[in-house]
Amino acid sequence: MVTITNHMPTAELQALDAAHHMHPFSANTELGREGVRVITRAKGVWLTDSEGEEILDGMAGLWCVNIGYGREELAEVAARQMRELPYYNTFFKTTHVPVIALAQKLAELAPGDLNHVFFSSGGSDANDTNIRLVRTYWQNKGQPDRNVIISRKNAYHGSSVGSSSLGGMAGMHAQGGIIPNIHHINQPNWWAEGGDMTPAEFGLARARELEEAILELGQDRVAAFIAEPVQGAGGVIVAPDTYWPEIQRICDKFGILLIADEVICGFGRTGNWFGSQTLGIRPHIMTVAKGMSSGYVPIGASIICDEVAEVIGMEEFNHGYTYSGHPVAAAVALENLRILEEEKIIDHVRDVAAPYLKQKWESLLVHPLVGEAKIVGMMGSIALTPDKGTRAKFAAEAGTVGYICRERCFKNNVIMRHVGDRMIISPPLVITPAEIDEMFVRIHKSLDEAHAEILERGLF
Ligand code: PMP
Repeated sequence: MVTITNHMPTAELQALDAAHHMHPFSANTELGREGVRVITRAKGVWLTDSEGEEILDGMAGLWCVNIGYGREELAEVAARQMRELPYYNTFFKTTHVPVIALAQKLAELAPGDLNHVFFSSGGSDANDTNIRLVRTYWQNKGQPDRNVIISRKNAYHGSSVGSSSLGGMAGMHAQGGIIPNIHHINQPNWWAEGGDMTPAEFGLARARELEEAILELGQDRVAAFIAEPVQGAGGVIVAPDTYWPEIQRICDKFGILLIADEVICGFGRTGNWFGSQTLGIRPHIMTVAKGMSSGYVPIGASIICDEVAEVIGMEEFNHGYTYSGHPVAAAVALENLRILEEEKIIDHVRDVAAPYLKQKWESLLVHPLVGEAKIVGMMGSIALTPDKGTRAKFAAEAGTVGYICRERCFKNNVIMRHVGDRMIISPPLVITPAEIDEMFVRIHKSLDEAHAEILERGLF
C-alpha cells in the first residue's frame, strides 16, 4: 500500500486525487485534468498548500470555521473524549454527558423558548429532521393534511433528497424532481429581480407571496415556512428591511410554523448568536450546524421551541441518525462554544471586525465592475455588472464573469466564492483589521485583473 503524506510532490497527490476522489459540486473530469490545490495545514485565517503558498481564507472553509483554524483546545477535547467514551447512541433509554451539556448550552444560547435539541451530523440531515418534525407536529395535533412546506427559490437547505427539495436550486431539482408537498415562492433579491420597484416595495411584495401561496394552497394545508435569515449559498442575498417583519406577520396570522435555517447565520456570523436575532425573526425551529463546531467535527441540530417539542413528544418520533448527539462531536462543539463565549468573539464581530469589514466592503462600490455591495455582520456579497445604473447583466452566460473573478482571487491567494456574477465572502469571525486590510489588497488586485481580462475578451 502507498503511504500518502503531506511531503509527497504536489503532482503525485493531484494524480491520486484525480484517480480516486470525486469532488462535490465539481465537474470531476475537467478538475482532474487541471489538478486541484492540496491544502496541507491551517492556522487562524490562513491556509497553507502543498507548494507552501499562504492563502487567506475569505470563506472560513464553507462558512464554518468561525473561531479560526488550529485551536489546540478542540483537538485535546476530541482526544480526551475518544479515550473516555468514543461512541454511544441515545436511542434506547441512554444518554451521555457531552450530549446533555451541549443540549443545555444550546438551549441557553438560543432565543425565546427554543429549549429542545435534536442532533444530526450536519445541516442537510437536520433539515430532513425538520421535514419530519413539522409534519409529525400537525399529525399529532389531528391535522394530517397540513403537510405542505413553503420555501424559496434559490434557497440552499442541503444536499440530501429532502433538504435539496426544500432548497430552491434548479440544478439540484433537475436531477430527478423533488419530494411531494414542497412549494417555492420567489426570493427577495432586489438587485436581480426588483425591476422598477424600490427595495422597500419589493421586500413587501416578495413577502406577500407567502400569504398568496398560503391562500392558494389552502390555509389548512400549510405546515411551515422555511428560510435562511440571509440567503447564503444563493449569493448572500440580504432581504430589504420590509421583508422579514411582513413574513413574521404572515406566519403569525396563519399559525404556520417558522423554520429559520441558521446553518450559516448561526454562532456569530451576523453579529449576534443567531441571525434570527439580527433580523428580528421568532422561529419555532432553528437549523444549526457549521459554526456550532467551527467545522472541526461534523455536527448539526434542530433547536425546537417548547410547544412543538411537547406535541412531538406525545408519540414515538420515528427518526434518528447513528451519529445523533455523537459524544466526540458534542464535546468538541461545546468547547467551540466555550471559546466563542469566553473570548467574546461575537463582541469582536459586532464592535471591531464587522464595522471595519462593512466600510471596506462598501468601498468596493467605486470599482467599475461592482454595482451593489451587501453585508450583514461577517457575510457579504457584491454584484458584478456592466452597468451600475440599470443593474444590467453581462451578455456572456451568467457566472462567466464571476468565475473569472473567482479564479483571479484563487491565484492571488485569497479565497472568495462566486455565485453567478455575485462574489461573496464569509471569513473566520476572528479576523483582525490588519488581516482584513491584507484581504482587500488581494481582492482589489483580483478585481482589477478580472476587469482587464473581461475587457480583453470583449465581455464587458
Ligand atoms: N442550510 C444552509 C443554509 C446551508 O448553507 C447549508 C450548507 N451550506 C446546509 C443547510 C447544509 O449543511 P451540510 O452541508 O452540513 O449538510
